Amino acid sequence: MSLCYLNGSFLPLAEAQISVLDRGFIFGDGVYEVIPAFGRRPFRLDAHLRRLDRSLSAIGMRPVLAAGPWAEIFARLLNTNEGEDQTLYVQITRGVAPRVHAPPPNLAPTVLVMSSPLPRQDLAQAVSAVTHEDFRWQRCDIKSISLLGNVLLRQFAVEAGAHEAILLRDGQVTEGASSNVFVVHDGQLYTPPHSQLLLPGVTRDLLVELLADTDDAVREAPVTEQMLRSAEEIWLSSSGRELAPVGILDGRPVGAGGVGDVYRRVLARYQQFKVSSRER
Ligand code: PLP
Repeated sequence: MSLCYLNGSFLPLAEAQISVLDRGFIFGDGVYEVIPAFGRRPFRLDAHLRRLDRSLSAIGMRPVLAAGPWAEIFARLLNTNEGEDQTLYVQITRGVAPRVHAPPPNLAPTVLVMSSPLPRQDLAQAVSAVTHEDFRWQRCDIKSISLLGNVLLRQFAVEAGAHEAILLRDGQVTEGASSNVFVVHDGQLYTPPHSQLLLPGVTRDLLVELLADTDDAVREAPVTEQMLRSAEEIWLSSSGRELAPVGILDGRPVGAGGVGDVYRRVLARYQQFKVSSRER
């Protein structure tokens, strides 16, 4: 039975309960984080906690815990629950109140943390993607628990037999339904720049940082639909899937249809970084 943390207590996940008046349940009024942990240690923890506090601030909430107490909660779950590699899921809602849209002041937030085993994945295995209009709201930089748009877009991808939906807004790539997007076009690696229209992915930002002083430096610049469709390589990044090359887009091969040379180099560098950060 998996252990979770809810509002100050550790308890079996199956016994965790919240009120039906929780604003997360009623309005989707809350934020979340997904933090990968390798060898039972959170990966890029500081970056995830910074983003969590940014999301809270963006919806007018204060930070809930400092880094030390978060780390203690995560360590207890990671050391108790199944799996050397796990994902931590953190959800904070504005709390419980009678159902009115405007948030009442000074509610006690609802804080949930749970973890689950992270399946081993072959990062050199190409996946398929389909494109779709990005019909979500205009604050996709907030890691909001209101994910209906992302859910419908992923459902569209799965029903089309694909792994991910790559989203286009006004002729430009924003991101995937639950990932960031990189393309190699004319030999240059691109990812869309940070904006309110996409999530600042921790994995995305790590790649930009890792590649900054290399021949594969990432250009953070708009990626047009035309660039996407004529790309030599397309990849996805996320904490859960890490990196994934896209071999097929809308039923057509990307580049040579396999795993590209730039991807192989970058994957090697990413894996080297993972190993070195475990040794620290
Ligand atoms: N974009 C969206 C919409 C996501 O849901 C996610 C992760 O789930 C990402 C990007 C990738 O972010 P990260 O690398 O921080 O997991």
